[in-house]
Amino acid sequence: MSPADAAGPADVVVALDVGGTGMKCALVRPDGTTVHTERHPTDAGRGPDAVVETILDVAEGLAGKARADGLDPVALGIAVPGVVNEAAGVAVWSANVGFRDVPLRDLAAARLGLPTALGHDVRVGGLAEARLGAGRGTGHVLFVAIGTGIAAAHVVDGVAATGAHGAAGEIGHILVRPGGPRCGCGRDGCLEAVASASAIARRYAEATGAGPTGAAGGGGLTGGGLAGTPASAADVADRAAAGEPAAAGVWAEAVEALADGLATGQSLYDVESIVIGGGLARAGPRLFDPLRAALHERMTFHRRPRLVAAALGDEAGCLGAALLALDAR
Ligand SMILES: [Zn+2]
Repeated sequence: MSPADAAGPADVVVALDVGGTGMKCALVRPDGTTVHTERHPTDAGRGPDAVVETILDVAEGLAGKARADGLDPVALGIAVPGVVNEAAGVAVWSANVGFRDVPLRDLAAARLGLPTALGHDVRVGGLAEARLGAGRGTGHVLFVAIGTGIAAAHVVDGVAATGAHGAAGEIGHILVRPGGPRCGCGRDGCLEAVASASAIARRYAEATGAGPTGAAGGGGLTGGGLAGTPASAADVADRAAAGEPAAAGVWAEAVEALADGLATGQSLYDVESIVIGGGLARAGPRLFDPLRAALHERMTFHRRPRLVAAALGDEAGCLGAALLALDAR
């Protein structure tokens, strides 16, 4: 059934978007409007059992808040990072939250007594952008989140493909530069080792001697912990625009690598819209203008997708978790 059609006037979905440092939480109406938001620390260092307890407590609190406000909580949607088996409702693996084979959907459904869906943070973000945000009105959308890493969601007619093992959309690990920088996954030359926000910052630090030389072999996914105040990817974009050669070089390499990755995505999926989210999208025209040109250069017979910035900001995770929960009801 269509979630909006079946909705009662007071229906809301309890939605949680759990990240490594914080949980974004909301009460969302079936039409995608948010009526209440909260944030809570994840405090992942306490271990996965404590994090699960916090998730259940926060969700229960939100359902209680809804009832106290005269609303009717009808479902619960939870988004988590890592590898998520959505069909089984299991958080299979997440480095930054510490989950390993946690049956979070069933635990939450048992605690709250609500129909519950568990989703992957980037896939539900893509779901929300495709249905309510920058991809609205187009049936075939590739949502690409570029931040510490790079991950994607392929959404067709409002449904995000999960893959056979809950790991679809790992576009950050497309091999774009054989023999290139070491990726956090252990291989050399993955897209996210060249073009994630943290890779851009790390490569700039290396190029200017400001960072630890030889660190490319280390934790490419984290990229933090440098001494001093290293330039962020946004700083690199600013310095590239100002004509600083080292920044311009690193930025151009990232854009070219992204264009290679997105061209592969377009070959596979033939989408109408590519929606770019995550921290790097905030670079605006400094990213989108050269990236659009580089992507179009790579299109031969392919139809050129629209290349646009995400519209929902960091609300996308909660909105998508709510949509997923309504779809699963
Ligand atoms: Zn990789």
